[in-house]
Amino acid sequence: MNCTELESRLHPYVDGELDVGETVEADAHVAECLGCRGRVAREREFRQILRRQPRESASDELRESIRARLGRSMRWAALRPWLAASTVTAVFAGVVLLSALRPATPLVSELVDSHIAFTQMEESSEFASADPWAVEAWFRERAKLRVTVADYSMEGIRLVGARVAQAHEHRASYVLYEKGHTPLSVFMVPARVRESDLHGARVSFRGHDYVTLERKGYRTVAWSDGEAIFGLVSMLDYGGLLKCADTLRAERARDARL
Ligand SMILES: [Zn+2]
Repeated sequence: MNCTELESRLHPYVDGELDVGETVEADAHVAECLGCRGRVAREREFRQILRRQPRESASDELRESIRARLGRSMRWAALRPWLAASTVTAVFAGVVLLSALRPATPLVSELVDSHIAFTQMEESSEFASADPWAVEAWFRERAKLRVTVADYSMEGIRLVGARVAQAHEHRASYVLYEKGHTPLSVFMVPARVRESDLHGARVSFRGHDYVTLERKGYRTVAWSDGEAIFGLVSMLDYGGLLKCADTLRAERARDARL
């Protein structure tokens, strides 16, 4: 196995998901290659930091809606005792269904945890570059992901690098920027998640809808274009984040026409 082959199998290798033959080959390469040994070590470090993040179970919004529905049906059932049993059963079935349909951890919370873990790492990028084209090419080759890397240099935000991330069991792209010393993460998760699954406050900016939410002191702006979910995570203010979101949306639309 050579460096390119190892790189393309890095995540399954670190997760122990390669078959025995490939694992043996990867082990042999890592034992003799300093560069790949570093890559593997950084990937393991990232997973460790991520595991240390306190996890959220169900969202507050979901808990609230379940409580409200149960309360309503209990009151309703109390007035009609002969219907009580079947109604309560139906509502519980609804609640179970609702919980099953919604992922336990909201997507945006996963992105915030990844943002925290990445920015705590000494080398947060798998690929360090300030050139949007080079980063896009790296995603195409490394992960078969068609990613639009927006240029925010006009806003005084510099591109730092990129890595392949994992969100909701999907391979996602992660692009890291910095404004001064404040990091900004931009995620793209190629999943057809409905926009209604994005919790938070809905805001309109320059004619488009976004969902904003704060988690663990970070501000997030997310939206779906039907093919993928996009999420920005940072301590920058919402005005700046929405501007970045709008730029990315416009550049993405232009890429799609090419
Ligand atoms: Zn190597």
